[in-house]
Amino acid sequence: MAGNECRRWHGTKRLCNIGDNPANPTLCTQGGCSMCSILRTSFKVAKANVSGRIFHRFGKGIYVSSTSSKAYNYASNGGLASQYSMIMLTNVIVGQGHKLTQDSQRLTGPPVGYHSVLEEVAGSLVYDELAVYNDDAIRPSWLVVYKY
Ligand SMILES: [Zn+2]
Repeated sequence: MAGNECRRWHGTKRLCNIGDNPANPTLCTQGGCSMCSILRTSFKVAKANVSGRIFHRFGKGIYVSSTSSKAYNYASNGGLASQYSMIMLTNVIVGQGHKLTQDSQRLTGPPVGYHSVLEEVAGSLVYDELAVYNDDAIRPSWLVVYKY
Protein backbone atom coordinates (compact mmCIF):
# COMPACT_ATOMS: atom_id res chain seq x y z
CA MET A 1 0.00 0.00 0.00
CA ALA A 2 2.69 2.53 0.99
CA GLY A 3 3.57 4.76 -1.93
CA ASN A 4 1.08 3.06 -4.22
CA GLU A 5 0.77 4.87 -7.49
CA CYS A 6 -2.07 4.39 -9.96
CA ARG A 7 -2.98 5.68 -13.37
CA ARG A 8 -6.34 7.43 -13.53
CA TRP A 9 -8.21 9.54 -16.09
CA HIS A 10 -8.96 13.24 -15.72
CA GLY A 11 -11.06 15.50 -17.94
CA THR A 12 -10.91 19.28 -17.92
CA LYS A 13 -11.64 22.38 -19.95
CA ARG A 14 -9.44 23.67 -22.75
CA LEU A 15 -9.89 27.00 -24.49
CA CYS A 16 -7.22 26.66 -27.16
CA ASN A 17 -6.23 24.22 -29.87
CA ILE A 18 -3.52 22.49 -27.84
CA GLY A 19 -3.46 18.87 -28.96
CA ASP A 20 -5.13 19.43 -32.33
CA ASN A 21 -1.80 19.64 -34.15
CA PRO A 22 0.99 17.48 -32.67
CA ALA A 23 3.53 19.56 -34.61
CA ASN A 24 2.56 22.67 -32.60
CA PRO A 25 2.28 21.76 -28.92
CA THR A 26 2.41 25.38 -27.70
CA LEU A 27 0.60 25.99 -24.41
CA CYS A 28 -1.66 29.03 -24.30
CA THR A 29 -1.74 31.55 -21.46
CA GLN A 30 -5.49 32.03 -21.15
CA GLY A 31 -6.45 31.98 -17.48
CA GLY A 32 -9.48 29.79 -18.09
CA CYS A 33 -7.65 27.12 -20.08
CA SER A 34 -7.35 24.48 -17.40
CA MET A 35 -5.68 22.06 -19.82
CA CYS A 36 -2.69 24.34 -20.46
CA SER A 37 -2.53 25.39 -16.82
CA ILE A 38 -2.28 21.76 -15.68
CA LEU A 39 0.26 20.90 -18.38
CA ARG A 40 2.40 23.90 -17.39
CA THR A 41 2.39 23.66 -13.60
CA SER A 42 0.61 20.35 -12.85
CA PHE A 43 -2.54 20.17 -10.73
CA LYS A 44 -3.37 22.76 -8.08
CA VAL A 45 -6.07 22.08 -5.54
CA ALA A 46 -6.56 25.84 -5.22
CA LYS A 47 -7.64 25.93 -8.86
CA ALA A 48 -9.77 22.80 -8.72
CA ASN A 49 -13.50 23.02 -9.21
CA VAL A 50 -13.45 26.58 -10.51
CA SER A 51 -14.96 25.55 -13.84
CA GLY A 52 -18.39 26.74 -12.77
CA ARG A 53 -19.62 23.38 -11.61
CA ILE A 54 -21.36 23.81 -8.29
CA PHE A 55 -21.60 20.20 -7.27
CA HIS A 56 -18.47 18.69 -5.75
CA ARG A 57 -19.33 15.19 -4.63
CA PHE A 58 -16.43 14.93 -2.22
CA GLY A 59 -15.48 18.51 -1.61
CA LYS A 60 -12.69 20.63 -3.03
CA GLY A 61 -10.22 18.14 -4.42
CA ILE A 62 -8.77 16.86 -7.66
CA TYR A 63 -10.91 14.10 -9.14
CA VAL A 64 -9.83 11.22 -11.32
CA SER A 65 -11.39 7.93 -12.38
CA SER A 66 -10.35 4.56 -13.76
CA THR A 67 -13.21 4.98 -16.25
CA SER A 68 -12.24 7.08 -19.27
CA SER A 69 -15.87 7.92 -20.07
CA LYS A 70 -16.18 9.51 -16.64
CA ALA A 71 -13.29 11.83 -17.49
CA TYR A 72 -14.87 12.45 -20.88
CA ASN A 73 -17.90 13.89 -19.08
CA TYR A 74 -15.65 16.65 -17.70
CA ALA A 75 -13.67 17.31 -20.87
CA SER A 76 -14.91 20.39 -22.68
CA ASN A 77 -13.67 22.68 -25.39
CA GLY A 78 -15.36 25.75 -23.95
CA GLY A 79 -17.02 26.66 -27.23
CA LEU A 80 -13.79 26.19 -29.18
CA ALA A 81 -14.23 24.99 -32.75
CA SER A 82 -12.38 21.71 -32.89
CA GLN A 83 -13.11 18.22 -34.08
CA TYR A 84 -10.98 16.86 -31.26
CA SER A 85 -11.37 16.44 -27.55
CA MET A 86 -8.79 15.33 -25.04
CA ILE A 87 -8.45 13.73 -21.65
CA MET A 88 -5.40 13.15 -19.47
CA LEU A 89 -4.00 10.02 -18.00
CA THR A 90 -2.49 10.92 -14.65
CA ASN A 91 -0.17 9.28 -12.17
CA VAL A 92 -1.71 9.63 -8.74
CA ILE A 93 -0.52 8.55 -5.31
CA VAL A 94 -3.44 6.90 -3.56
CA GLY A 95 -1.75 6.10 -0.25
CA GLN A 96 -4.30 4.91 2.26
CA GLY A 97 -7.63 5.55 0.55
CA HIS A 98 -10.76 6.23 2.58
CA LYS A 99 -13.72 4.49 0.95
CA LEU A 100 -17.01 6.35 0.67
CA THR A 101 -20.25 5.33 -0.95
CA GLN A 102 -22.22 8.51 -0.24
CA ASP A 103 -21.66 12.15 -1.15
CA SER A 104 -19.75 14.30 1.33
CA GLN A 105 -19.57 17.71 -0.29
CA ARG A 106 -17.94 19.56 2.59
CA LEU A 107 -14.74 17.53 2.57
CA THR A 108 -11.52 19.51 2.36
CA GLY A 109 -9.35 16.42 2.73
CA PRO A 110 -9.46 12.78 3.70
CA PRO A 111 -9.98 11.80 7.35
CA VAL A 112 -6.91 11.74 9.60
CA GLY A 113 -4.79 8.71 8.75
CA TYR A 114 -5.83 8.65 5.08
CA HIS A 115 -4.35 10.22 1.95
CA SER A 116 -7.21 10.13 -0.53
CA VAL A 117 -10.91 9.41 -0.87
CA LEU A 118 -12.11 6.47 -2.94
CA GLU A 119 -15.67 6.73 -4.15
CA GLU A 120 -16.98 3.31 -4.88
CA VAL A 121 -19.80 2.66 -7.29
CA ALA A 122 -22.99 2.69 -5.24
CA GLY A 123 -26.06 4.85 -4.79
CA SER A 124 -25.85 7.96 -6.96
CA LEU A 125 -22.33 7.17 -8.09
CA VAL A 126 -22.23 5.38 -11.42
CA TYR A 127 -18.47 5.45 -11.99
CA ASP A 128 -15.61 5.09 -9.54
CA GLU A 129 -13.80 8.25 -8.54
CA LEU A 130 -10.69 9.03 -6.58
CA ALA A 131 -10.10 12.42 -4.98
CA VAL A 132 -6.81 13.80 -3.73
CA TYR A 133 -6.39 17.06 -1.84
CA ASN A 134 -2.64 17.56 -2.13
CA ASP A 135 -0.96 19.08 -5.20
CA ASP A 136 1.97 16.70 -4.93
CA ALA A 137 -0.23 13.59 -5.07
CA ILE A 138 -0.92 13.85 -8.78
CA ARG A 139 0.83 14.59 -12.06
CA PRO A 140 -0.40 14.63 -15.66
CA SER A 141 1.45 11.92 -17.58
CA TRP A 142 -0.30 11.32 -20.91
CA LEU A 143 -2.72 13.17 -23.14
CA VAL A 144 -5.21 11.28 -25.24
CA VAL A 145 -6.60 13.24 -28.19
CA TYR A 146 -9.62 11.80 -29.92
CA LYS A 147 -11.99 12.78 -32.65
CA TYR A 148 -15.68 13.17 -31.90
ZN1 LIG B 1 -4.75 26.37 -23.68
